[in-house]
Amino acid sequence: MNLVRICDACTQEEVNKVMDAAKVAQKAWARTPLWKRAELLHKAAAILKEHKTPIAECLVKEIAKPAKDAVSEVVRSGDLVSYTAEEGVRILGEGKLLVSDSFPGNERNKYCLSSKVPLGVVLAIPPFNYPVNLAVSKIGPALIAGNSLVLKPPTQGAVAALHMVHCFHLAGFPKGLISCVTGKGSEIGDFLTMHPGVNCISFTGGDTGIAISKKAGMVPLQMELGGKDACIVLEDADLDLVAANIVKGGFSYSGQRCTAVKVVLIMEAVADTVVEKVNAKLAKLKVGPPEDDSDITPVVTESSANFIEGLVMDAKEKGATFCQEYRREGNLIWPLLLDHVRPDMRIAWEEPFGPVLPVIRINSVEEGIHHCNASNFGLQGCVFTRDINKAIMISDAMESGTVQINSAPARGPDHFPFQGLKDSGIGSQGITNSINMMTKVKSTVINLPSPSYTMG
Ligand code: NAP
Repeated sequence: MNLVRICDACTQEEVNKVMDAAKVAQKAWARTPLWKRAELLHKAAAILKEHKTPIAECLVKEIAKPAKDAVSEVVRSGDLVSYTAEEGVRILGEGKLLVSDSFPGNERNKYCLSSKVPLGVVLAIPPFNYPVNLAVSKIGPALIAGNSLVLKPPTQGAVAALHMVHCFHLAGFPKGLISCVTGKGSEIGDFLTMHPGVNCISFTGGDTGIAISKKAGMVPLQMELGGKDACIVLEDADLDLVAANIVKGGFSYSGQRCTAVKVVLIMEAVADTVVEKVNAKLAKLKVGPPEDDSDITPVVTESSANFIEGLVMDAKEKGATFCQEYRREGNLIWPLLLDHVRPDMRIAWEEPFGPVLPVIRINSVEEGIHHCNASNFGLQGCVFTRDINKAIMISDAMESGTVQINSAPARGPDHFPFQGLKDSGIGSQGITNSINMMTKVKSTVINLPSPSYTMG
Protein backbone atom coordinates (compact mmCIF):
# COMPACT_ATOMS: atom_id res chain seq x y z
CA MET A 1 0.00 0.00 0.00
CA ASN A 2 1.28 3.44 -0.78
CA LEU A 3 0.75 6.18 1.71
CA VAL A 4 -0.72 9.57 0.81
CA ARG A 5 1.53 12.61 0.88
CA ILE A 6 -0.34 15.77 0.04
CA CYS A 7 1.01 18.21 2.60
CA ASP A 8 3.40 20.98 1.65
CA ALA A 9 6.42 21.58 3.83
CA CYS A 10 6.31 24.94 5.64
CA THR A 11 9.16 27.35 5.00
CA GLN A 12 11.11 28.97 7.82
CA GLU A 13 9.31 32.26 7.12
CA GLU A 14 5.96 30.54 7.50
CA VAL A 15 7.11 28.98 10.77
CA ASN A 16 8.13 32.43 12.03
CA LYS A 17 4.68 33.80 11.15
CA VAL A 18 2.97 30.91 12.98
CA MET A 19 5.12 31.50 16.07
CA ASP A 20 4.36 35.24 16.06
CA ALA A 21 0.63 34.57 15.73
CA ALA A 22 0.78 31.95 18.50
CA LYS A 23 2.45 34.43 20.83
CA VAL A 24 -0.18 37.12 20.22
CA ALA A 25 -3.09 34.66 20.46
CA GLN A 26 -1.78 33.22 23.72
CA LYS A 27 -1.89 36.59 25.48
CA ALA A 28 -5.59 36.95 24.69
CA TRP A 29 -6.31 33.29 25.49
CA ALA A 30 -4.68 33.52 28.92
CA ARG A 31 -7.26 36.25 29.71
CA THR A 32 -10.14 33.99 28.65
CA PRO A 33 -11.98 32.62 31.71
CA LEU A 34 -11.17 29.02 32.55
CA TRP A 35 -14.80 27.90 32.22
CA LYS A 36 -14.91 29.34 28.68
CA ARG A 37 -11.72 27.51 27.72
CA ALA A 38 -13.29 24.32 29.03
CA GLU A 39 -16.53 25.00 27.16
CA LEU A 40 -14.67 25.33 23.86
CA LEU A 41 -12.73 22.13 24.52
CA HIS A 42 -15.99 20.25 25.14
CA LYS A 43 -17.28 21.63 21.86
CA ALA A 44 -14.14 20.54 20.01
CA ALA A 45 -14.43 17.06 21.54
CA ALA A 46 -18.00 16.71 20.25
CA ILE A 47 -17.04 17.92 16.75
CA LEU A 48 -14.07 15.56 16.69
CA LYS A 49 -16.36 12.63 17.44
CA GLU A 50 -18.82 13.77 14.75
CA HIS A 51 -15.91 13.69 12.28
CA LYS A 52 -14.72 10.27 13.35
CA THR A 53 -15.42 8.58 10.03
CA PRO A 54 -13.42 10.85 7.68
CA ILE A 55 -10.56 11.18 10.19
CA ALA A 56 -10.44 7.42 10.67
CA GLU A 57 -10.37 6.99 6.88
CA CYS A 58 -7.26 9.19 6.79
CA LEU A 59 -5.64 6.99 9.45
CA VAL A 60 -6.42 3.88 7.42
CA LYS A 61 -4.99 5.35 4.21
CA GLU A 62 -2.02 7.17 5.70
CA ILE A 63 -0.69 4.80 8.33
CA ALA A 64 -2.48 1.52 7.52
CA LYS A 65 -4.27 1.48 10.86
CA PRO A 66 -6.96 -1.24 10.92
CA ALA A 67 -10.34 0.43 10.30
CA LYS A 68 -11.88 -0.36 13.71
CA ASP A 69 -8.79 0.82 15.62
CA ALA A 70 -8.77 4.01 13.57
CA VAL A 71 -12.32 4.87 14.67
CA SER A 72 -11.46 4.02 18.30
CA GLU A 73 -8.47 6.37 18.15
CA VAL A 74 -10.67 9.31 17.19
CA VAL A 75 -13.42 8.54 19.72
CA ARG A 76 -10.85 8.04 22.49
CA SER A 77 -9.33 11.39 21.51
CA GLY A 78 -12.68 13.15 21.88
CA ASP A 79 -13.10 11.60 25.33
CA LEU A 80 -9.57 12.67 26.25
CA VAL A 81 -10.32 16.30 25.31
CA SER A 82 -13.54 16.33 27.38
CA TYR A 83 -11.81 14.77 30.38
CA THR A 84 -9.00 17.32 30.07
CA ALA A 85 -11.52 20.17 30.14
CA GLU A 86 -13.09 18.79 33.33
CA GLU A 87 -9.79 18.03 35.02
CA GLY A 88 -8.40 21.44 34.04
CA VAL A 89 -11.31 23.31 35.56
CA ARG A 90 -10.67 21.52 38.86
CA ILE A 91 -6.90 21.59 39.15
CA LEU A 92 -6.37 25.02 37.65
CA GLY A 93 -9.23 26.45 39.68
CA GLU A 94 -7.24 25.89 42.85
CA GLY A 95 -4.17 27.64 44.19
CA LYS A 96 -2.31 27.56 47.50
CA LEU A 97 -1.98 29.82 50.49
CA LEU A 98 1.23 29.40 52.51
CA VAL A 99 1.96 31.15 55.77
CA SER A 100 5.51 32.05 56.83
CA ASP A 101 5.66 30.87 60.46
CA SER A 102 6.08 27.20 59.58
CA PHE A 103 9.70 27.88 58.60
CA PRO A 104 12.09 28.33 61.56
CA GLY A 105 12.82 31.92 62.54
CA ASN A 106 9.69 33.36 60.92
CA GLU A 107 6.60 34.95 62.39
CA ARG A 108 3.28 34.86 60.57
CA ASN A 109 3.71 38.11 58.67
CA LYS A 110 3.93 36.78 55.12
CA TYR A 111 1.17 35.15 53.10
CA CYS A 112 2.20 33.46 49.88
CA LEU A 113 -0.50 33.02 47.22
CA SER A 114 0.56 30.61 44.52
CA SER A 115 -1.29 29.53 41.39
CA LYS A 116 -0.55 27.90 38.07
CA VAL A 117 0.05 30.10 35.05
CA PRO A 118 0.56 29.16 31.39
CA LEU A 119 4.02 28.77 29.85
CA GLY A 120 3.29 30.51 26.53
CA VAL A 121 3.70 28.67 23.21
CA VAL A 122 3.78 24.86 23.42
CA LEU A 123 5.34 22.94 20.53
CA ALA A 124 3.74 19.50 20.17
CA ILE A 125 5.34 16.76 18.08
CA PRO A 126 3.52 13.40 18.00
CA PRO A 127 4.64 10.20 16.19
CA PHE A 128 3.07 8.46 13.22
CA ASN A 129 1.39 5.63 15.11
CA TYR A 130 -1.21 7.76 16.94
CA PRO A 131 -1.20 11.04 15.00
CA VAL A 132 -4.57 12.09 16.45
CA ASN A 133 -4.55 10.70 19.99
CA LEU A 134 -0.96 11.63 20.80
CA ALA A 135 -1.59 15.11 19.37
CA VAL A 136 -4.72 15.81 21.41
CA SER A 137 -3.01 14.49 24.55
CA LYS A 138 -0.75 17.56 24.16
CA ILE A 139 -3.26 20.01 22.65
CA GLY A 140 -5.95 19.58 25.35
CA PRO A 141 -3.68 20.18 28.37
CA ALA A 142 -1.87 23.06 26.64
CA LEU A 143 -5.08 24.90 25.76
CA ILE A 144 -6.96 24.41 29.03
CA ALA A 145 -3.91 25.77 30.85
CA GLY A 146 -3.98 28.97 28.76
CA ASN A 147 -1.14 28.21 26.34
CA SER A 148 -1.19 28.44 22.57
CA LEU A 149 -0.08 25.43 20.61
CA VAL A 150 1.93 24.75 17.47
CA LEU A 151 1.57 21.19 16.19
CA LYS A 152 4.18 19.55 13.99
CA PRO A 153 2.29 16.44 12.87
CA PRO A 154 4.14 13.31 11.76
CA THR A 155 4.58 13.33 7.98
CA GLN A 156 2.68 10.06 7.83
CA GLY A 157 -0.52 10.95 9.63
CA ALA A 158 -0.41 14.65 8.75
CA VAL A 159 -3.73 14.63 6.89
CA ALA A 160 -5.56 13.04 9.84
CA ALA A 161 -3.89 15.53 12.19
CA LEU A 162 -4.87 18.50 9.99
CA HIS A 163 -8.45 17.29 9.94
CA MET A 164 -8.39 16.98 13.74
CA VAL A 165 -7.03 20.54 14.13
CA HIS A 166 -9.77 21.74 11.78
CA CYS A 167 -12.30 20.40 14.33
CA PHE A 168 -10.77 22.75 16.94
CA HIS A 169 -11.13 25.66 14.52
CA LEU A 170 -14.75 24.68 13.84
CA ALA A 171 -15.36 24.74 17.59
CA GLY A 172 -14.30 28.40 17.60
CA PHE A 173 -10.68 28.31 18.74
CA PRO A 174 -8.88 31.20 17.06
CA LYS A 175 -6.54 30.06 14.27
CA GLY A 176 -3.40 31.61 15.70
CA LEU A 177 -4.01 29.81 18.98
CA ILE A 178 -3.67 26.37 17.48
CA SER A 179 -1.69 25.95 14.27
CA CYS A 180 -0.19 23.15 12.29
CA VAL A 181 3.29 23.28 10.78
CA THR A 182 3.74 20.53 8.22
CA GLY A 183 7.00 19.27 6.76
CA LYS A 184 9.52 16.55 7.42
CA GLY A 185 10.97 16.53 10.90
CA SER A 186 14.43 15.95 9.46
CA GLU A 187 14.10 19.21 7.49
CA ILE A 188 12.19 21.64 9.72
CA GLY A 189 12.63 19.89 13.08
CA ASP A 190 15.72 21.75 14.27
CA PHE A 191 14.32 25.11 13.21
CA LEU A 192 11.15 24.41 15.17
CA THR A 193 12.62 22.88 18.32
CA MET A 194 15.30 25.58 18.64
CA HIS A 195 12.91 28.42 17.77
CA PRO A 196 13.11 31.26 20.32
CA GLY A 197 9.31 31.58 20.28
CA VAL A 198 8.83 28.11 21.79
CA ASN A 199 8.27 27.95 25.56
CA CYS A 200 7.72 24.20 26.01
CA ILE A 201 8.24 21.07 23.91
CA SER A 202 6.06 18.00 24.24
CA PHE A 203 7.45 15.24 22.02
CA THR A 204 6.50 11.61 21.49
CA GLY A 205 8.60 9.44 19.22
CA GLY A 206 11.87 7.56 19.02
CA ASP A 207 15.54 8.47 19.58
CA THR A 208 14.92 11.80 17.86
CA GLY A 209 13.65 12.95 21.26
CA ILE A 210 17.09 12.41 22.81
CA ALA A 211 18.68 14.61 20.12
CA ILE A 212 15.99 17.28 20.62
CA SER A 213 16.52 17.33 24.37
CA LYS A 214 20.23 18.04 23.82
CA LYS A 215 19.52 20.94 21.46
CA ALA A 216 16.49 22.56 23.10
CA GLY A 217 17.11 25.63 25.20
CA MET A 218 15.82 26.56 28.66
CA VAL A 219 12.33 25.21 28.08
CA PRO A 220 10.43 22.50 29.92
CA LEU A 221 10.51 19.20 28.05
CA GLN A 222 8.06 16.34 28.02
CA MET A 223 9.60 13.38 26.21
CA GLU A 224 7.82 10.09 25.63
CA LEU A 225 10.23 7.91 23.69
CA GLY A 226 10.76 4.30 22.70
CA GLY A 227 10.47 1.17 24.78
CA LYS A 228 11.43 -2.48 24.93
CA ASP A 229 8.58 -3.54 27.19
CA ALA A 230 9.35 -6.87 28.86
CA CYS A 231 6.75 -9.46 29.71
CA ILE A 232 7.93 -11.65 32.60
CA VAL A 233 6.03 -14.94 32.94
CA LEU A 234 6.27 -17.07 36.10
CA GLU A 235 5.40 -20.77 36.41
CA ASP A 236 2.19 -20.14 38.38
CA ALA A 237 0.68 -17.76 35.81
CA ASP A 238 -2.66 -18.30 34.06
CA LEU A 239 -1.14 -19.46 30.78
CA ASP A 240 -4.23 -18.78 28.64
CA LEU A 241 -4.28 -15.21 29.94
CA VAL A 242 -0.54 -14.95 29.19
CA ALA A 243 -0.95 -16.18 25.61
CA ALA A 244 -3.88 -13.84 24.94
CA ASN A 245 -1.93 -10.86 26.27
CA ILE A 246 1.24 -11.71 24.38
CA VAL A 247 -0.70 -11.81 21.11
CA LYS A 248 -2.72 -8.66 21.82
CA GLY A 249 0.20 -6.83 23.42
CA GLY A 250 2.81 -7.87 20.89
CA PHE A 251 0.91 -7.86 17.62
CA SER A 252 -1.91 -5.24 17.77
CA TYR A 253 -1.39 -2.63 15.07
CA SER A 254 1.39 -4.90 13.81
CA GLY A 255 3.52 -4.23 16.90
CA GLN A 256 3.79 -0.50 16.06
CA ARG A 257 2.92 0.67 19.57
CA CYS A 258 5.27 2.21 22.10
CA THR A 259 3.80 -0.08 24.76
CA ALA A 260 3.77 -3.23 22.65
CA VAL A 261 5.19 -6.31 24.39
CA LYS A 262 8.67 -6.31 22.83
CA VAL A 263 10.37 -9.18 24.63
CA VAL A 264 8.94 -12.18 26.48
CA LEU A 265 11.03 -13.43 29.42
CA ILE A 266 9.50 -16.76 30.36
CA MET A 267 10.33 -19.44 32.91
CA GLU A 268 11.62 -22.52 31.08
CA ALA A 269 9.07 -24.83 32.78
CA VAL A 270 6.07 -23.14 31.09
CA ALA A 271 7.74 -21.87 27.93
CA ASP A 272 6.75 -24.75 25.61
CA THR A 273 3.07 -24.51 26.61
CA VAL A 274 2.90 -20.74 26.18
CA VAL A 275 4.76 -20.78 22.85
CA GLU A 276 2.32 -23.40 21.58
CA LYS A 277 -0.71 -21.37 22.73
CA VAL A 278 0.67 -18.17 21.18
CA ASN A 279 1.42 -19.92 17.89
CA ALA A 280 -2.15 -21.24 17.73
CA LYS A 281 -3.48 -17.70 18.15
CA LEU A 282 -1.04 -16.19 15.65
CA ALA A 283 -2.24 -18.67 13.03
CA LYS A 284 -5.72 -17.13 13.33
CA LEU A 285 -4.67 -13.51 12.79
CA LYS A 286 -5.87 -11.93 9.58
CA VAL A 287 -3.02 -10.49 7.54
CA GLY A 288 -3.79 -7.93 4.82
CA PRO A 289 -4.94 -4.39 4.05
CA PRO A 290 -6.28 -2.12 6.82
CA GLU A 291 -9.53 -1.49 4.94
CA ASP A 292 -10.48 -5.17 5.53
CA ASP A 293 -9.90 -4.67 9.25
CA SER A 294 -6.99 -7.09 9.14
CA ASP A 295 -5.12 -7.69 12.38
CA ILE A 296 -1.72 -7.39 10.76
CA THR A 297 -1.34 -4.59 8.20
CA PRO A 298 1.70 -3.22 6.34
CA VAL A 299 4.26 -1.45 8.53
CA VAL A 300 4.53 2.27 7.97
CA THR A 301 7.49 2.53 5.57
CA GLU A 302 9.79 0.39 3.49
CA SER A 303 12.72 1.44 5.67
CA SER A 304 10.82 0.22 8.76
CA ALA A 305 10.19 -3.13 7.02
CA ASN A 306 13.89 -3.35 6.08
CA PHE A 307 14.92 -2.58 9.67
CA ILE A 308 12.62 -5.31 11.02
CA GLU A 309 13.99 -7.75 8.45
CA GLY A 310 17.53 -6.90 9.57
CA LEU A 311 16.65 -7.86 13.16
CA VAL A 312 15.02 -11.10 11.96
CA MET A 313 18.02 -12.07 9.81
CA ASP A 314 20.44 -11.35 12.64
CA ALA A 315 18.41 -13.65 14.92
CA LYS A 316 18.35 -16.32 12.20
CA GLU A 317 22.13 -16.24 11.75
CA LYS A 318 22.62 -16.53 15.50
CA GLY A 319 20.31 -19.55 15.83
CA ALA A 320 16.88 -18.36 17.06
CA THR A 321 13.99 -20.78 16.50
CA PHE A 322 11.47 -19.49 13.96
CA CYS A 323 7.98 -20.54 15.10
CA GLN A 324 6.56 -19.44 11.74
CA GLU A 325 8.13 -19.08 8.34
CA TYR A 326 9.41 -15.51 7.81
CA ARG A 327 7.21 -13.94 5.16
CA ARG A 328 7.21 -10.42 3.72
CA GLU A 329 5.49 -8.79 0.75
CA GLY A 330 6.48 -5.14 0.39
CA ASN A 331 5.80 -3.51 3.76
CA LEU A 332 3.54 -6.36 4.89
CA ILE A 333 5.27 -8.70 7.33
CA TRP A 334 3.49 -11.81 8.63
CA PRO A 335 3.45 -12.26 12.44
CA LEU A 336 6.52 -14.05 13.70
CA LEU A 337 7.45 -15.45 17.10
CA LEU A 338 11.16 -16.06 17.62
CA ASP A 339 11.89 -18.62 20.33
CA HIS A 340 15.19 -19.38 22.11
CA VAL A 341 16.42 -15.82 21.58
CA ARG A 342 19.68 -15.08 23.40
CA PRO A 343 21.14 -11.80 24.67
CA ASP A 344 23.75 -11.70 21.87
CA MET A 345 20.97 -11.17 19.30
CA ARG A 346 20.01 -7.61 18.36
CA ILE A 347 16.30 -8.37 18.71
CA ALA A 348 16.82 -9.09 22.42
CA TRP A 349 17.47 -5.34 22.89
CA GLU A 350 16.24 -3.32 19.92
CA GLU A 351 12.69 -2.14 19.27
CA PRO A 352 11.46 -3.75 16.00
CA PHE A 353 8.22 -1.71 15.86
CA GLY A 354 6.75 -4.54 13.79
CA PRO A 355 4.95 -7.89 14.16
CA VAL A 356 8.01 -9.79 15.31
CA LEU A 357 8.42 -10.90 18.92
CA PRO A 358 11.41 -12.53 20.67
CA VAL A 359 11.05 -15.08 23.47
CA ILE A 360 13.92 -15.49 25.93
CA ARG A 361 13.69 -18.51 28.22
CA ILE A 362 14.81 -17.84 31.80
CA ASN A 363 15.59 -20.06 34.78
CA SER A 364 14.96 -17.54 37.54
CA VAL A 365 12.98 -14.38 38.16
CA GLU A 366 16.25 -12.56 38.82
CA GLU A 367 17.43 -13.44 35.29
CA GLY A 368 14.29 -11.82 33.86
CA ILE A 369 14.62 -8.70 35.99
CA HIS A 370 18.29 -8.45 35.08
CA HIS A 371 17.49 -8.53 31.35
CA CYS A 372 14.75 -5.94 31.77
CA ASN A 373 17.00 -3.59 33.75
CA ALA A 374 20.00 -3.99 31.43
CA SER A 375 17.98 -2.29 28.66
CA ASN A 376 18.49 1.40 27.85
CA PHE A 377 14.72 1.67 27.78
CA GLY A 378 12.34 1.75 30.73
CA LEU A 379 8.87 2.52 29.44
CA GLN A 380 6.53 -0.22 30.71
CA GLY A 381 6.73 -3.88 31.59
CA CYS A 382 4.40 -6.59 32.76
CA VAL A 383 4.47 -9.62 35.00
CA PHE A 384 2.17 -12.64 34.99
CA THR A 385 1.76 -14.59 38.22
CA ARG A 386 -1.03 -15.54 40.61
CA ASP A 387 1.13 -14.53 43.57
CA ILE A 388 0.43 -10.85 44.27
CA ASN A 389 3.31 -10.55 46.73
CA LYS A 390 5.79 -11.74 44.13
CA ALA A 391 4.19 -9.50 41.52
CA ILE A 392 4.65 -6.40 43.67
CA MET A 393 8.25 -7.25 44.46
CA ILE A 394 9.02 -7.82 40.78
CA SER A 395 7.27 -4.57 39.87
CA ASP A 396 9.41 -2.72 42.41
CA ALA A 397 12.55 -4.30 40.99
CA MET A 398 11.78 -3.51 37.34
CA GLU A 399 13.26 -0.20 36.16
CA SER A 400 10.33 0.92 34.06
CA GLY A 401 7.86 3.78 34.34
CA THR A 402 4.87 1.46 34.78
CA VAL A 403 4.49 -2.26 35.46
CA GLN A 404 1.22 -4.01 34.65
CA ILE A 405 0.31 -7.04 36.75
CA ASN A 406 -1.46 -9.76 34.73
CA SER A 407 -2.03 -7.61 31.65
CA ALA A 408 0.00 -6.42 28.68
CA PRO A 409 1.47 -2.90 28.84
CA ALA A 410 -0.90 -0.13 27.79
CA ARG A 411 -0.89 3.63 27.65
CA GLY A 412 -4.49 4.13 28.74
CA PRO A 413 -6.78 4.95 30.33
CA ASP A 414 -5.53 8.39 29.34
CA HIS A 415 -5.78 9.91 32.81
CA PHE A 416 -3.31 7.39 34.31
CA PRO A 417 0.24 8.70 34.74
CA PHE A 418 2.42 7.55 31.83
CA GLN A 419 6.19 7.90 31.87
CA GLY A 420 9.41 6.28 30.79
CA LEU A 421 12.63 5.91 32.73
CA LYS A 422 16.14 6.09 31.20
CA ASP A 423 16.06 6.58 27.39
CA SER A 424 12.28 6.16 27.40
CA GLY A 425 11.54 9.69 28.43
CA ILE A 426 11.57 12.83 30.53
CA GLY A 427 8.66 13.79 32.75
CA SER A 428 5.27 12.16 32.96
CA GLN A 429 2.14 12.32 30.82
CA GLY A 430 -1.45 11.47 31.62
CA ILE A 431 -4.04 14.24 31.64
CA THR A 432 -3.30 15.70 35.09
CA ASN A 433 0.47 15.47 34.75
CA SER A 434 0.41 17.06 31.31
CA ILE A 435 -1.70 20.00 32.51
CA ASN A 436 0.71 20.54 35.41
CA MET A 437 3.73 20.21 33.15
CA MET A 438 2.39 22.88 30.80
CA THR A 439 2.06 25.42 33.60
CA LYS A 440 4.42 27.22 35.91
CA VAL A 441 3.82 28.18 39.52
CA LYS A 442 3.52 31.92 40.09
CA SER A 443 3.55 33.37 43.61
CA THR A 444 2.49 36.67 45.10
CA VAL A 445 3.67 37.32 48.67
CA ILE A 446 1.71 39.66 50.92
CA ASN A 447 4.00 41.19 53.56
CA LEU A 448 2.11 42.40 56.63
CA PRO A 449 3.55 45.20 58.77
CA SER A 450 3.31 42.93 61.83
CA PRO A 451 2.61 39.22 62.48
CA SER A 452 -1.06 38.27 62.36
CA TYR A 453 -2.52 35.07 63.83
CA THR A 454 -6.08 34.00 63.04
CA MET A 455 -8.22 34.04 66.18
CA GLY A 456 -4.98 35.01 67.98
P1 NAP B 1 10.18 9.54 15.21
O1 NAP B 1 10.83 9.15 13.94
O2 NAP B 1 11.02 9.88 16.37
O3 NAP B 1 9.20 10.75 14.84
C1 NAP B 1 8.38 11.34 15.80
C2 NAP B 1 8.03 12.73 15.38
O4 NAP B 1 9.21 13.54 15.36
C3 NAP B 1 7.44 12.82 13.97
O5 NAP B 1 6.45 13.82 13.97
C4 NAP B 1 8.63 13.27 13.15
O6 NAP B 1 8.29 13.95 11.98
C5 NAP B 1 9.31 14.21 14.13
N1 NAP B 1 10.74 14.46 13.85
C6 NAP B 1 11.60 13.73 13.14
N2 NAP B 1 12.83 14.31 13.16
C7 NAP B 1 12.72 15.43 13.90
C8 NAP B 1 13.62 16.45 14.30
N3 NAP B 1 14.89 16.43 13.96
N4 NAP B 1 13.15 17.45 15.07
C9 NAP B 1 11.86 17.48 15.45
N5 NAP B 1 10.97 16.55 15.11
C10 NAP B 1 11.38 15.52 14.35
O7 NAP B 1 9.18 8.38 15.70
P2 NAP B 1 8.09 7.61 14.86
O8 NAP B 1 8.76 6.69 13.89
O9 NAP B 1 7.06 8.56 14.33
O10 NAP B 1 7.39 6.75 16.01
C11 NAP B 1 7.92 5.56 16.47
C12 NAP B 1 8.67 5.75 17.77
O11 NAP B 1 7.88 6.47 18.69
C13 NAP B 1 8.98 4.43 18.45
O12 NAP B 1 10.28 4.48 18.97
C14 NAP B 1 7.96 4.36 19.58
O13 NAP B 1 8.33 3.54 20.65
C15 NAP B 1 7.86 5.80 19.94
N6 NAP B 1 6.60 6.08 20.62
C16 NAP B 1 6.63 6.38 21.95
C17 NAP B 1 5.46 6.62 22.64
C18 NAP B 1 5.48 6.96 24.10
O14 NAP B 1 4.50 7.51 24.58
N7 NAP B 1 6.53 6.65 24.83
C19 NAP B 1 4.22 6.57 21.97
C20 NAP B 1 4.22 6.24 20.61
C21 NAP B 1 5.42 6.01 19.95
P3 NAP B 1 8.33 13.22 10.53
O15 NAP B 1 7.21 12.24 10.56
O16 NAP B 1 8.14 14.32 9.58
O17 NAP B 1 9.67 12.55 10.43
